[in-house]
Amino acid sequence: MLKYHKKGEIIFFQGDESDCAYLIEYGKVDIFIEDETFDTLVVGDLFGEMGVLDQKPRSTSARAATDVALLAVRSNQITERLQQSDPIVKAMVRVLLKRFRSLLPSDESFSGDLLFSEVESVVEDIGLNKIKLESELRGAIERGEIQTVYQPINDIATGEIAGFEALSRWEHPVKGVISPFEFITLAEETDLIVDVGRLVFERACRLLSQLPASYFININVSAKQLDNDLFWEAVVAMMKSQGVAHHRLKLEITETLVVDHEQARNWINKCRKLGFPICADDFGTGHSGMEQLVSLDYDVLKVDQVFIRNMFENKKYATVLQSIARIAHDLDMKLVAEGVETESQLQTLKLLGFNFGQGYFFGKPMDEKVVMDLAKNT
Ligand code: C2E
Ligand code: CA
Ligand code: CA
Repeated sequence: MLKYHKKGEIIFFQGDESDCAYLIEYGKVDIFIEDETFDTLVVGDLFGEMGVLDQKPRSTSARAATDVALLAVRSNQITERLQQSDPIVKAMVRVLLKRFRSLLPSDESFSGDLLFSEVESVVEDIGLNKIKLESELRGAIERGEIQTVYQPINDIATGEIAGFEALSRWEHPVKGVISPFEFITLAEETDLIVDVGRLVFERACRLLSQLPASYFININVSAKQLDNDLFWEAVVAMMKSQGVAHHRLKLEITETLVVDHEQARNWINKCRKLGFPICADDFGTGHSGMEQLVSLDYDVLKVDQVFIRNMFENKKYATVLQSIARIAHDLDMKLVAEGVETESQLQTLKLLGFNFGQGYFFGKPMDEKVVMDLAKNT
């Protein structure tokens, strides 16, 4: 909704409640404190946002320098977005606000400043800790401190190891082991995931070149890697130089990545053209449902561990497992069960026609040397 002010009219006074910000659609606005104008804003400028961001009274006054038309931006349009934003963004906004306010002439109405309240500083701490962790992760990647471990994937019919899933590990020098759920998510928010992926692909490729040709390695891939053509060119060149056949590297795409089917189809087509089999990871937990089985061409379905963990406790999980097994069979896809921990789970999965199993029952993730020893002894 546009608000109009005649030249010379006050838009707000210092100390007024900060109920909205304004975007100038037409005309000019003077920002002043007492009698001193310290800025004149023009069409396209935003003002009045500061008090909205930190919910404090107006720190300056604003007056129409000419006839003006203003678009009012309601405070909740800004604050709700700020609430939902990444902690790093929130912390940066607060730091900037604090710095800017410290440049303004001091005003008694700001004593007991909310910015220094406990809640505000916690928000800032979370954001700054996150950005610190991100910088440390960047360093750890550069120094090669992100480890790759390999968890066996066994053939259910023979019980033998058929391949491995490559998983990343980070042992922080002070904080200890940091879960991949935390650091992979952090890496996925920036391009760092492409660097993590490069490490994993390099190591997996080298390991494959040393293992018997019947073994495969599954690698988790994220959206930013899938979108990055240079990344795939490098992977292909590396595999060629190591003499590793592409079908031995299977790409796991987690179901939660599949939000846009068109985009997922492009990813899958691109990787398929390169000769990499595609595996739907965490199958059954995402929101894209059964339709993806029709529209996306997976080679392998990896059923999420929640179904295996609960198959004896809750009959519904067993029923869904049975249906997934039948569908995979009819659509000619291979089936992997994740999180297999007991002999009885294994026997049931065998009856259901699962091809492969992965989980603590077969083995925990292990380092490259143990994988090589295992391969030598089989
Ligand atoms: P995911 O791909 O679903 O990997 C399986 C996770 O289940 C692994 O956790 C593995 O250690 C754990 N697991 C395996 N067997 C069992 C079992 O029998 N019982 C239980 N309770 N857990 C089991 P991890 O290594 O902590 O990885 C967590 C997630 O982090 C992975 O889930 C994957 O989504 C992601 N991730 C790990 N490494 C990478 C990576 O290099 N790149 C990408 N993009 N994602 C990765
Ligand atoms: Ca996986
Ligand atoms: Ca999984």
